[in-house]
Amino acid sequence: MDHYQHTVKKPVRAVGIGLHSGKEISLTISPAPADSGICFVRSDINPTRLIPAEAKHVVDTRFATTIGTENGTIATIEHLMAALFGAGIDNALIDVHGPEVPAMDGSAAPFLRLLENAGRQKQNSSRKYVKILEPVSVSRDGKSLAIQPDNRFHVSFEIEFDHPLIARQRFSSKVTPRMFSRRIGRARTFGFLKEVEMLKKNGLALGGSLDNAVVIGDTDVVNDGGLRFSDEFVRHKVLDLIGDLYLLGAPVLGRVKAFKSGHFLHHLLVQELLSRPYAWEVVESTGTWRVPAWGGSHERRVMPAAVNA
Ligand SMILES: [Zn+2]
Repeated sequence: MDHYQHTVKKPVRAVGIGLHSGKEISLTISPAPADSGICFVRSDINPTRLIPAEAKHVVDTRFATTIGTENGTIATIEHLMAALFGAGIDNALIDVHGPEVPAMDGSAAPFLRLLENAGRQKQNSSRKYVKILEPVSVSRDGKSLAIQPDNRFHVSFEIEFDHPLIARQRFSSKVTPRMFSRRIGRARTFGFLKEVEMLKKNGLALGGSLDNAVVIGDTDVVNDGGLRFSDEFVRHKVLDLIGDLYLLGAPVLGRVKAFKSGHFLHHLLVQELLSRPYAWEVVESTGTWRVPAWGGSHERRVMPAAVNA
């Protein structure tokens, strides 16, 4: 576990296709000061828009997680957020020259490689974590998501699809950077061939292709080369969950149990947590835990206001 915050050592740039717009979009990840968190900039509109990666800025969770302010939004941030978590980056400025983060190969692996190229810079501030103190759960339409206290970040996820290729898959593990890069980061997003055709007819998923998603036909995977893991589907759901939970503004210490959840429910759990200040606490890692006393000053907001200044 890291005791200090980290940012990237130098700016790094990637170019890729936006899944929904089908347009080529460039992305630059740059160093940011300690305690500034992850912050996105929409640089293709004038004046540019600064959007902190905080749950309160989530404006849409239908196909992906979209954040925004009055005049600008950035969609599909979850795989990059998961990669930033997996690479142990607390602070970074993400410049996106378009309406969505490029899809790359549909997983977090290209972003992890990019962050590896950037290098990791230790900062002179202790790392903060959101430590869960009380169980919190949400559920909708037979889907559920719950979190309970634990000294580590642990995820168990179960999915169930009425399709022979997926059916029921379960994944359960402690989440660490090493585990993330080995077992989760490469898992790609997926869609059903019939749905992909429908989305394209409606002007959505225009950039979607076999290069950036696993496409599932009636009986088999359409992509040459098949799957990267036999349970790639549930692993990708874990990736999404990790990225969405990072919108709390700091890594979580808690045990998460998900059943068929997606971006909407992930965001609902984060909102539910933030509305219950007694259910969690911000702790700093300075070698030993410093847990503020009960009844003391609860830090309700994890992200400092300074990034908006
Ligand atoms: Zn995803």
